[in-house]
Amino acid sequence: MRVVRTVAALRTGLADAPRPIALVPTMGGLHEGHLELVRHARAQSATLVVSIFVNPAQFAADEDLDAYPRDERRDAELAREAGADLFFAPGVEEVYPPGFDTTVEVGGLTRELEGDPAQRGSEHFRGVAIVVAKLFNMVGPDVALFGQKDAQQALVIRRLVRDLDFPVRVDVLPTVRDDDGLALSSRNVYLSAGERERALALSRGLRAAEGLVAAGELDAERVVAAARDELEAGGLEPDYLELRSAEDLSVVARVNGSTLLCVAARVGPARLIDNVILRAPEQPVPSPPVTRSSP
Ligand code: AMP
Repeated sequence: MRVVRTVAALRTGLADAPRPIALVPTMGGLHEGHLELVRHARAQSATLVVSIFVNPAQFAADEDLDAYPRDERRDAELAREAGADLFFAPGVEEVYPPGFDTTVEVGGLTRELEGDPAQRGSEHFRGVAIVVAKLFNMVGPDVALFGQKDAQQALVIRRLVRDLDFPVRVDVLPTVRDDDGLALSSRNVYLSAGERERALALSRGLRAAEGLVAAGELDAERVVAAARDELEAGGLEPDYLELRSAEDLSVVARVNGSTLLCVAARVGPARLIDNVILRAPEQPVPSPPVTRSSP
């Protein structure tokens, strides 16, 4: 595995690289969630690029940019073990040179949920969109892999790719959880043992909603209430807890097709997000009328 820090070195490294090229963009602090993406990418690519860049553009001034976990040597070792060919770890000035003045903005999707001004705001997704667009142009991947853990981000990236005709396939993989249900996140390192215990109410809430839907309850209010009860029992007050269309984040009154239940909550110093896709139980398909054909 080669470690490269500049776009020029990356392009040299990729000049004769066999295709398909896969890209797994991350902010480092690698955990099993990231490594599942890397392993999956390895299995379907001839060349695998893992990027590590803590992107200042997606952090608001009051967020954890300085505290964000950074351990490049550990990340490089994990990426190498998981099969990366190139480890791209650019500095901030390589990505945003002096005078950088371009914006990429995906519309309505970025103003919902995390993009609401009361949450991270749409600037967060402007930061995500610009860095992902740049990484796609730098690497020129055939496939890029993202996690369902950041469901809204995955939708925004799919829209970006479609609207700007990036020749990239976007694969979104399921959320990887610890055995106790907590979704893996680089930010989990901020949690004390007690806070981590409290954070479990997030996945418990999502599971409670999932259980209710499996039992046939499709009404949004009742499904959300089941999740909210678990959060409250665990002492968590969510920033939001909402049922939305998994296609376009529109508000839904009933679980219908593929529906996203998403939650954000502060637990101690960490702001955690999680989600689950709810699907209405399959209705039995009526069997076609039996017609007798005469011999
Ligand atoms: P991050 O380093 O947090 O920007 O995440 C990099 C990529 O890993 C994003 O596509 C995330 O959605 C994905 N990811 C983060 N946590 C998980 C997880 N627990 N399971 C699956 N994918 C994840």
